[in-house]
Amino acid sequence: MTCFSCGCEEFKRENGLEIAKVSEGGRRRTFDVLFNPTNQETTCSCKLFYRQGIPCRHMVWVWKAKRFEIIPEQYILNRWTTMATKRPIFDLGGNLLEQCANIIDKKKLLNELWSEIHNCVSLAEGDDEDIKDLVINFRGLRLDLEAKRIARNNGERNATNKEKDIELLIGASVPTEISIKPPKISKNKGT
Ligand SMILES: [Zn+2]
Repeated sequence: MTCFSCGCEEFKRENGLEIAKVSEGGRRRTFDVLFNPTNQETTCSCKLFYRQGIPCRHMVWVWKAKRFEIIPEQYILNRWTTMATKRPIFDLGGNLLEQCANIIDKKKLLNELWSEIHNCVSLAEGDDEDIKDLVINFRGLRLDLEAKRIARNNGERNATNKEKDIELLIGASVPTEISIKPPKISKNKGT
């Protein structure tokens, strides 16, 4: 519908990008539409998409010229779809990034641990006494870790028991989310 007034004035390839000079309204105005064939990223010098989140007619014209059946996914903003109310837009990204960073940190630590263990084993390998010492040391470490785990589990059980006792007493369960927050301290004290 909007594309009948558009036409292509010029077309070239530069640095892997396809650049179309799209004219509009009897060639009075032209807009440069940059198209990246590898990821279908499309930008237009009219910047309508960046201002309003709606693909402009020039971008649409290029997609049509390329015989696209549908608009590239990245140009259908979440806010225009039925998913808009179902997906948190900001929370998810941050948490995911954080989770990824945590996983990478943990992997790094575990790698360090394994390399320490391997180094110990390869250093002790040639000497029976060293091997025996290492076995004793590692066994000691393992027993420490086991004791720690048992203590931790008991602690958790006690905590949940305590929570259960309180729940029984007040006849309600502890809310998982706290919606009542303490009031803000006013700043106009003494004025
Ligand atoms: Zn445009």
